[in-house]
Order: sequence, then C-alpha cells, then structure tokens
Amino acid sequence: MPGRNQQLVLDALTRFDRPMGAYELLGLLRQEGLRSPLQIYRALDQLIEEGLVHRIESLSAFALCVHSECGSHGRAAFAICANCGRASEVHDPALERVLRRIARRQGFRTKSATVELSGLCEACAHR
Ligand SMILES: [Zn+2]
Ligand SMILES: [Zn+2]
Repeated sequence: MPGRNQQLVLDALTRFDRPMGAYELLGLLRQEGLRSPLQIYRALDQLIEEGLVHRIESLSAFALCVHSECGSHGRAAFAICANCGRASEVHDPALERVLRRIARRQGFRTKSATVELSGLCEACAHR
C-alpha cells in the first residue's frame, strides 16, 4: 500500500496523464500539505522502487507506469513527443531481450533500463 504522499503523487500523475517534474508536483500538492521537494522526491523514489512510476531522464520528469509488469524488471521504453510532451510507454519483448543480451556480454547487472525515443508523435507529425 502506498503511503499518503505517494498516493497524492500517484493521483496527480493520473489526473494529468503526462510526465511531470518534481517541482510541478510540489506546486500542485502544496495545498495538500506537501511542503518540501524532499517529500516529493522521497515519494517518487518509493513509487519507482515499487514499479508504479518511471523516471524519464531526458525530461527530468516522472511518468505513471501503464504496465503492471514493469515492477518486476524495471525495463521500459518511452516515445516522447517534443511538440506536445506526450510520452507513450511501450513494451517489446524483443527490446528486452536485446537489453538483457547487452548486459550479459558486459557482465553487467542491470537495475533498471529506460529507453527514451525523442521525436514527434503521430498526431503532431501530421499537423
Ligand atoms: Zn512501466
Ligand atoms: Zn505530439
């Protein structure tokens, strides 16, 4: 069960349905009693640990995980639109196999892997 702060962060990400930065979340949740960035980051860290949220490095933002199976392996890919900011999470077993193979060859123990594609979504590309 997520704690109260985690639940508030989850609710905000669900409501807006797009990746959000920690300070944007803080601005939204101030009225709920969250006052410091540390509280936000702590809640986000726990949500990431539980596989409910992904960190998108290129946006310095956090997105709700839309696949329940992510928690077990921490591998995800996002197609991020530079125009409208939408980030669609995609899963492909072939990509996961490639990531596993790369790690194995390096003797690398992967904790998590997020592949980020940057470009235009279908709607924006055809505008
Ligand atoms: Zn996911
Ligand atoms: Zn777009």
